[in-house]
Amino acid sequence: MNDAMVVGVSKRFGEVHALHQIDLQIKSGEFVALLGPSGCGKTTLLRLLAGFESPSSGEIWLNHERVADKNQLKPPEQRRIGMVFQSFALWPHLTVYENVAFPLRHQQNVPEVYKNNPGARVAEMLEMVGLGGMEKRYPSQLSGGQKQRVALARAIVFNPTLLLMDEPLSSLDAELRIQMRKEIQHIHRELGTSIVYVTHDQSEALAMADKIVVMRGGRVEQAGTPHEIYYSPQSPFVAKFVGRANFVKGQWADPHTFLLERDGQASLPLRVSQDFAPFHADQVLPVRPDQIKLHPWNEGADGVRGRVQHVQFQGRELLYSIQIGKEEWEVASDIGTSFSYGDQVAVEILV
Ligand code: ATP
Repeated sequence: MNDAMVVGVSKRFGEVHALHQIDLQIKSGEFVALLGPSGCGKTTLLRLLAGFESPSSGEIWLNHERVADKNQLKPPEQRRIGMVFQSFALWPHLTVYENVAFPLRHQQNVPEVYKNNPGARVAEMLEMVGLGGMEKRYPSQLSGGQKQRVALARAIVFNPTLLLMDEPLSSLDAELRIQMRKEIQHIHRELGTSIVYVTHDQSEALAMADKIVVMRGGRVEQAGTPHEIYYSPQSPFVAKFVGRANFVKGQWADPHTFLLERDGQASLPLRVSQDFAPFHADQVLPVRPDQIKLHPWNEGADGVRGRVQHVQFQGRELLYSIQIGKEEWEVASDIGTSFSYGDQVAVEILV
């Protein structure tokens, strides 16, 4: 089993506390995204996993072996870890073939079968990333997307036990980014390698990862599946940072009953199955725009009364701003139901 474990890891650079007491398990074959704003410690954590840095305290384990603590550090080339960077980091004087074959000669613990027949292995990898036939080109003769594919092939050629990716798509244009997401998912499925993927792009993390680790100020703010992170945020920071959120005002009557405000009174009980304890003190309920349904308003209608303030056509959905008392909620609705500016609506929350 190719597990990786980060146990109570802290990292200081002089006065800077880059990481505080990080605990993280990466299960064999798991795709883990580290998501967070600039400076939260994502790259530092990746560099610790790779072996470029040692922890100030705590331990790093790869495949049931302790590879780093504050007294020892197993170097990167002995860890069988593949790395892909935003900058591609290809050798300009080497051909595509030579770039991809390089780790087979220089990494330790490369399976003999690949070492003995590098040509076949490199061809197989280039085929997998859609670059068959480009062996003889130099990086300067490739597009950005092709360079990133070479970097990917080079990172997986020696069958790494862990693949680390640091913002690998951020220098590509929007269309290519979407295409490369699919290719990375394809490679992950084919190889079954565990992946740790650093990004500050929430849509990338939500789209690709099995598990998202949201980081903030050198700490893990929340870890969970994309569904858990999106629908059960455990802090206002996560609710705001991942997707859009309404902080609906009311009153928590008990941990699973939220009284929505109607006509200025917290009077409309809403059954809430999830645990939103971190939001109890502020007497708010985090609600995603797609968890709100609009109906035509009539006297006696269920729900809260609101007025359409703004409508944006977004292709597959309509994005509304709905004025409710002094608050404004964001609502995403399919284009089947449509309301116009000024319409009165009954607003139903589905959590
Ligand atoms: P970004 O998304 O901007 O790359 P990040 O989440 O990857 O940010 P890190 O690069 O891990 O963040 O940095 C975390 C903190 O540690 C920052 O405050 C950074 O300035 C600091 N830091 C990182 N490397 C060093 C270093 N070698 N020396 C001093 N401080 C460092």
